[in-house]
Amino acid sequence: MTRQDLLSVVQDFESPVYVYNASKIEAQYKRLNNAFKKVKKVKIHYAVKALSNISVLKLLRSLGSGMDTVSIQEVCLALEAGVAPENIIFTPNGVSMEEIERAAGLGVQINIDNLSFLEQFGTKYPEIPVCIRINPHVMAGGNTNISVGHIDSKFGISIHQMPHIKRIVENTNMTINGIHMHTGSDILDIDVFLYASEILFRSAMHFDNLEFIDFGSGFKVPYKEGDIETNIEELGEKLSERFNAFCKTYGKELTLAFEPGKFLVSEAGKFLVNVNVIKQTTSTVFAQVDSGFNHFIRPMLYGSQHTIENISNPKGRERFYSVVGYICETDTFANNRRIAEIREGDVLAFGNAGAYCFTMTSNYNSRYRPAEVLWHKGKAHLIRKRETFKDIIKNQVPVEL
Ligand SMILES: *Cc1c(COP(=O)(O)O)cnc(C)c1O
Repeated sequence: MTRQDLLSVVQDFESPVYVYNASKIEAQYKRLNNAFKKVKKVKIHYAVKALSNISVLKLLRSLGSGMDTVSIQEVCLALEAGVAPENIIFTPNGVSMEEIERAAGLGVQINIDNLSFLEQFGTKYPEIPVCIRINPHVMAGGNTNISVGHIDSKFGISIHQMPHIKRIVENTNMTINGIHMHTGSDILDIDVFLYASEILFRSAMHFDNLEFIDFGSGFKVPYKEGDIETNIEELGEKLSERFNAFCKTYGKELTLAFEPGKFLVSEAGKFLVNVNVIKQTTSTVFAQVDSGFNHFIRPMLYGSQHTIENISNPKGRERFYSVVGYICETDTFANNRRIAEIREGDVLAFGNAGAYCFTMTSNYNSRYRPAEVLWHKGKAHLIRKRETFKDIIKNQVPVEL
């Protein structure tokens, strides 16, 4: 998408607005598939929570993707998008047994991540095969906010509890058809990932009826210049070889599964805002935009550094700005960032706005959630209308006091 395309989206649909480039999503999907072309059976389950607009789900489905879901509502969205139940995996954490039963009733693959529910589910439904989520206790990234494989993590069943898992499986006569791990959000070091995979292979040998091994996700995408990105091609080369060797040892052609969110949609997204005010204080120049953490919370929640481009004045002389929002709360998108000269009314584009951006929006300050646009084959398609005042009050029940 060119700057002109982005400006036309703001002209047509106003700001703030999310726009997703379909061809980038497609390219990432193909790139991942291609990296594992030496494995016979590969299944990619897109992590719906990253960006759950149904048109995006349909696009991914049309490419051949399955869906990874973490709530019954996400399961329903995936079904609504036309994804077959057998191509949906439900990997919740800490949800109720009723929710798991509902998902199982819809025919989706269940992934269980605690011993208590493994035993309850196996006792009640020994005929439904389940996948188990293993915690291999490997730290994939450096940031404890996003590493979920380490010792204190709430995710997965500890690898050290394998004897307990086996006892439950034997006692209930249930079938384990897959094992799964999701170690964290940043694979910086492929060797660390391969090390965790070895642990998964070792646990796989404990089960005779496996159909797939799910390696989760954690593919890192670049946010700013100089960022390390997971070398998918190298990972594909190394893991494929190891996976194929494992299948020989295991004696069966298994499916290699992944469930990427960020990798598929992060870079495809841009968030476009308008600059309301330029405010010069004694030490700082603030650019205040028509948004805040109600629309785009990653910089405040995770300290994510998203690129910011002034698409209205790309050739302007660069100056330092603090880009902040209009929320009555500290909502700093960027501190002291070098950006082409910003004037009131300019449109700024945030990069990497595809994953975990719209899905984390709220109505804080009683603002509307933004519109979403899918850019497909040179055309803008509105895929979610901007909210209106009706949405703000629709569930409120006024009482006369
Ligand atoms: C969130 C999540 C993913 C996707 O992670 P990304 O970093 O976006 O690729 C995959 N699997 C599970 C179980 C998740 O919770």
